[in-house]
Amino acid sequence: MRNPAPLIATLCLGLLVVFLLLRPKTPEPPTPPAIPEKPAPKSPTALSVLAENPDWTTLEEYQRTISRDDFEKLLTEIFTTDDTWREFILIRDEQAEIITNSDLAEPPFVLEFATPDNTLPTPRLWKDTATRPIPPKGKPLSNLHIAIDPGHIGGKWAKIEERWFQIGEEKPVTEGDMSLYVAKLLKPLLEELGATVTLVRSTAEPVTPLRPENLTSLAAENTSDDPDSLRRFAEQLFYRTAEIRARAELVNNTIKPDLVLCLHFNAEAWGDPNKPTLIPRTHFHILLNGAYTPDEVRLADQRLALLKKLLQRTHEEEALVGKTIAETFAEISKLPAYIYPPGGNNVRSVATSPFLFARNLLANRLYDSPVIFMEPYVMNSTIDYARIQAGDYEGLREINGQQLPSIFREYAEALAKGLEKHYAQ
Ligand SMILES: [Zn+2]
Repeated sequence: MRNPAPLIATLCLGLLVVFLLLRPKTPEPPTPPAIPEKPAPKSPTALSVLAENPDWTTLEEYQRTISRDDFEKLLTEIFTTDDTWREFILIRDEQAEIITNSDLAEPPFVLEFATPDNTLPTPRLWKDTATRPIPPKGKPLSNLHIAIDPGHIGGKWAKIEERWFQIGEEKPVTEGDMSLYVAKLLKPLLEELGATVTLVRSTAEPVTPLRPENLTSLAAENTSDDPDSLRRFAEQLFYRTAEIRARAELVNNTIKPDLVLCLHFNAEAWGDPNKPTLIPRTHFHILLNGAYTPDEVRLADQRLALLKKLLQRTHEEEALVGKTIAETFAEISKLPAYIYPPGGNNVRSVATSPFLFARNLLANRLYDSPVIFMEPYVMNSTIDYARIQAGDYEGLREINGQQLPSIFREYAEALAKGLEKHYAQ
């Protein structure tokens, strides 16, 4: 094969130009949920921003743990959105050959499939529902370590991270503070059910020691010299990328939980944060890891992460836990299922529940354990906005003509109920 370097360089330059042209001039509206990391084209290894060099030997322990059928089904029905994976993965009868980076001269990683008479157990660091010992009565979550990850940062960072809006002189709505408040209500409820619980953050401060000013030179490699774009891009690298990578490091190397609950409040496009648009509808969905886009499959680190998730069988666990949580949460909150706008190429619905969708977010990709990524309520819906303004309280209050509990308590209690139901089964 002839030297592919000039072709790759041209391709990368092309991608960079497209990226710069498509990059929004004004801040993105916060819809729908957390924004997946935007891969910045880099050459020649093609990795995501701030990603470490992928170590493909970490897949060795999954040899002969999955059948060819399961592998292909998960790959095509959950983890990808089109056939781009075929450029990198060749499925043969007894093995899959996987291209590890853009240097095609390097030999592929070979994954041997399990056969009926030669199947090894799936190694994993977290406890799955199926093989957990039966818990004592009344403590269905015992022997379970749950990490609660309150989405975003909040506090003085809420404006930078575009999770802030305010109507007139009313209380500003900041998702990062609300998710932390729910996390603190949820923790004792789960402990009461027997779980060990760790918060990934417990203040309105970032986990990463990096700040936007530390990321300016990295931003300069990927954007124009316009000072405004440069500042915005450095900020995004801070709260979207460096912060989530720091949380992943904490979750994977220190907390090592069996399950992570990422707590978010959803929103739809609100336009000017000082003059936000309120909309009439509210809804709820849960995100599981999957639906890697063609661009994401092409990045070596994301391709490796996809395979690791697939081989650890996290999807099956996320779908099981997620289904019970979704049904219980919807029953208590009365929220209808979110319907993704048609035509999106970065999401797949999960057949077992109208509330479950697969999406590849930085957090649910990088956290090693199964992740339940909650997206209930719409902060800029008329009803949820009124509930947020009412703050936290005990019992019921009349809000827009309905008797309703505090939105924060309902969130924490419905989620705890869902987990209780799942693990007591
Ligand atoms: Zn969020």
